[in-house]
Amino acid sequence: MSILVNWLESLHEEMKVSSRCVRERNRKATCGFCVQTCKQNAFEIKDHLLILDTNKCTMCGECMLACPLSAIEGVLSNRVFDGGSLVFNYNYVPSIKELLIYKKRGMTSIQVSQQPLSKEWKTVVSQSNDYLQMLDEDSIEVVQKVKEEVLSRRAFFGSFQKEGKQLAKSMAPAAWKMKQDDWKITRYYPDYQFFTVQLNKEKCTLCQACFALCPENVFQIKNNKLVIQNEKCVNCTSCTDVCPENTIEIILDVKSIKDSQENVHLKACIVCEHPFYTFNVENEKCPVCANRDSDWLSPY
Ligand code: SF4
Ligand code: SF4
Repeated sequence: MSILVNWLESLHEEMKVSSRCVRERNRKATCGFCVQTCKQNAFEIKDHLLILDTNKCTMCGECMLACPLSAIEGVLSNRVFDGGSLVFNYNYVPSIKELLIYKKRGMTSIQVSQQPLSKEWKTVVSQSNDYLQMLDEDSIEVVQKVKEEVLSRRAFFGSFQKEGKQLAKSMAPAAWKMKQDDWKITRYYPDYQFFTVQLNKEKCTLCQACFALCPENVFQIKNNKLVIQNEKCVNCTSCTDVCPENTIEIILDVKSIKDSQENVHLKACIVCEHPFYTFNVENEKCPVCANRDSDWLSPY
């Protein structure tokens, strides 16, 4: 049955990079989690854009998992589940992020049968359990597959009928069918943050370039406060790539949500008269005018 299911799933469309890729919106983007993960070297970066060579792609789906924005569409066809267990397979090693996501989707264990768990799997399971502890979740167990009963001839043929009725269900096991947005880890642990966005107030000019490019809307100004919603950050690095002052640092920091808030002041620029925000109430020029060459011919 699983061979049939896997074959049907493998007929799914090819992997493709969606417009959510940060490289589509930001020419300065340096994100390359997918490129680094792909063992087939199927990605190429041309004019800052990501190109996937479908002739080299084996549709293993590892890039989908690695992308912080869930920007790669496709199907992970080599993962097999038996109830709430992910079945151990020597041919790949799951990532910590993947196991944390499966856990929230109902996976409780890793199932082994004849072959013992490999060293690489053991490491990932152990590291995932460390994170699960921080996230106040139960650990993932490793369980031995229960030996299948030897069926009588009658029961054997009867089982075909039963399996036939379940075919539609097993072809689309609801818990393990993943949609586009399903690989974004922040969706699954809404009470926790995975990253802390550290901004150096001394250097930041509040030009708001990061506000515009952050795909997760982490930065906001509300009631004269700069609010950084760390729980939304997926470490796509768009903000660090775009910041002209190099003031942002993203730190892996798994813990209960702790947003950062800083007072800001709304002022009118003495040169261009446009409104701008600043941390320093004494600033008189907006970031654009402050950075402009003094010889520049102002139309104002
Ligand atoms: S990991 Fe995702 S966002 Fe980053 S370059 Fe690849 S597809 Fe784009
Ligand atoms: S804060 Fe920066 S790294 Fe985090 S999601 Fe936004 S742009 Fe990406």
